Amino acid sequence: MSIENYSVQYIKGVGEKIAEKLHRALSIKSVKDLLYYFPREWDDRTNPIKISGINPGEKVTVRGRVENVSTKWMGKNIVVFRGKIKDSSGTVIAVWIRRHTRSYDVLGTLSKEITVGKDIFVTGIVGNDLWEKNVTVQEYEVVSSPFGVTTTDEKNLVSFNRIVPIYPLTEKFTNKFFRIAINSTLNKYLNEITEKFPEKYLKKYNLAGIKYAIQNIHFPGTFTNRDNARRRLAFDEFLDFQLKLEFLKQKRKKEKKEFKYTLTKKLLTPFKKSLPFEFTAAQKNVINEIFDDMLSQKPMNRLLQGDVGSGKTVVALSSMLLAAESGFQSVLLAPTEILAEQHLVTVKKLLKNLPVNIEYIVGKMPKKRKTEAKNKIANGDANIIIGTHALLEEDIKFKNLSLIVIDEQHRFGVEQRLKMRKKSSPEAGRNADFLLMSATPIPRTLGLTLYGDLEISTIKELPSGRIPIKTLEMSDRNAYSFVREKIGQGEQAFIVYPLVDESEKLQLKSAIKEAENLRKTEFWDFSVGLIYGRMKPEEKDKVMLDFKQKKYQILISTTVIESGIDISNATVMVIEHAERYGLSTLHQLRGRVGRGNKQSFCILLSNAKTYDSKKRLEVMLKTTDGFKIAEEDLKLRGYGEFFGTQQSGDVEFKIGNIVTDFAIIQEAKQLAIEIIQNEPSLLGCLIKNQNLQKLNLAEA
Ligand code: ADP
Ligand code: MG
Repeated sequence: MSIENYSVQYIKGVGEKIAEKLHRALSIKSVKDLLYYFPREWDDRTNPIKISGINPGEKVTVRGRVENVSTKWMGKNIVVFRGKIKDSSGTVIAVWIRRHTRSYDVLGTLSKEITVGKDIFVTGIVGNDLWEKNVTVQEYEVVSSPFGVTTTDEKNLVSFNRIVPIYPLTEKFTNKFFRIAINSTLNKYLNEITEKFPEKYLKKYNLAGIKYAIQNIHFPGTFTNRDNARRRLAFDEFLDFQLKLEFLKQKRKKEKKEFKYTLTKKLLTPFKKSLPFEFTAAQKNVINEIFDDMLSQKPMNRLLQGDVGSGKTVVALSSMLLAAESGFQSVLLAPTEILAEQHLVTVKKLLKNLPVNIEYIVGKMPKKRKTEAKNKIANGDANIIIGTHALLEEDIKFKNLSLIVIDEQHRFGVEQRLKMRKKSSPEAGRNADFLLMSATPIPRTLGLTLYGDLEISTIKELPSGRIPIKTLEMSDRNAYSFVREKIGQGEQAFIVYPLVDESEKLQLKSAIKEAENLRKTEFWDFSVGLIYGRMKPEEKDKVMLDFKQKKYQILISTTVIESGIDISNATVMVIEHAERYGLSTLHQLRGRVGRGNKQSFCILLSNAKTYDSKKRLEVMLKTTDGFKIAEEDLKLRGYGEFFGTQQSGDVEFKIGNIVTDFAIIQEAKQLAIEIIQNEPSLLGCLIKNQNLQKLNLAEA
């Protein structure tokens, strides 16, 4: 058995219920998943400082003996537990503040654990009370019981006396939980981790062994150990990625299209004529680049990047029409149902007088409808097919697919691209053209490393006549009266609420609750719509449609509207808790307004405290240029998060940081090339994803 086969359920402190929660919240199922849940940072708690030396405002770790304890109420709901702690230099009051609840005794565990005579570590912030030195405790751990009996072996303390891991946390899981669970997992399973990396390459690239790396990423003896561990794990990640990329690239070099388009313009000309606008110069440019690719013998692999609202859809549609007028099928793949639906509506409208058949496939749709669609795709009646991941399913067969367009491509992984290309069917030959679209511009150097296999086209100008969106920071009250004023002028507004938490339930509650609230108070005299992720696609559709038809003046939502909704009468975007979003999300959200010919506004309500969140808002207030925003975002966050956290894209690195680890990436790339050229047999053990192995290695 290897570690991916052991369930976390039997780990100390886990059990059936928590195992299920871990699975649901963090996709942690096996012992391996748990060990690969890496800390976000590390806190040096090796040397507690002398109590006499602590100063107000500092974050400190001290160790001492409990001299006395007491409990105090502050008002009706807050209860404070205090313990006086003494070391050789002095005393300090450790303070635990808890909110009272009826359902259980909030001080239960504390008053059991913190008793007179015990030795404890605490870490927290020193208060500035002049009369008594105190520390508001963030974490604590008990070293020994009274009478000097050691309850926890000092070497086995998980939160103190060492460099301590701090994990990315979500609801209900504490750092202490992860430390205990991971520590006991390491004790039990570390030896079962097998090294898959060939020894010679470990040497050549000066990499730590895998056991060392896993142990030291969680509980490093020194920061140097941690760095070595991190380097190894980052290398693994980048290598996995680069191998896939190189593999694709090598394969592609040999490819030739087995089909040929003919530019008859019998669809393209009427399409162009029917558009209510002219293509911008930038659009014409990229259409030319795309057509050149399509008309050549080499399969196209082009990334089309352009800011939100730059008009990528009509560009994509032009390429799909070239395929259609040559007698081939094309696909437009979107990452979410709502975006796919939006595309469907747009495409249907734009092509309404043309002799093309459009089909639609998403996960949730009536079975009968799906079967019909499938048949039309298989027998060639459908020319243009729009849908989500559901299109990747095995039973969807195309008659002659020649062009695959992927919107928001960073949300799809390399694997999905590979799966899709397998759909290019016998009649069109295997090597379909790919057009990947992204509204997240990537700086060039990074692009070359991450998309080294792609040509890049960029739309740099927005369609003319657009008025730049004004971005403002306001208080709630001012924002609401601003919204009232705009609505008074016949315009519409979005109000967006954040994912309060990774839990879908909470996210939903906040938007729902606020909708209810605002309907009764601020906006009682307006009609307020509500939309959120978990609604049925039909429901979402209806709400969006109603909003578009002005049945609502205000639409309250979660970030679901991030994905490409086009409502030109909406001129105000209010973003609540703007500090919680990354720059690219903020930028995408802002891009939902400013689509018509009136001045639009983006209003940020925030409570930014950290440097990063303040900086993000500053950037938003300063610029609307997507490229600048992307660069700032990258500087602030590194790459993994840069592309959003919840997507299953190809560039989600858990530990590697694409900016600071650039050198490692280069090395990984070098090794990837070496392996693919000289030792392809290694691919099987080095590429993580089993599906990918199945998918391709057979063909390699
Ligand atoms: P994105 O690049 O964000 O996907 P879209 O393709 O959705 O942008 O285009 C945004 C809006 O701009 C759409 O309403 C589209 O019809 C419109 N549009 C596209 N090209 C032009 C143009 N050349 N002139 C005016 N409006 C355009
Ligand atoms: Mg779009």
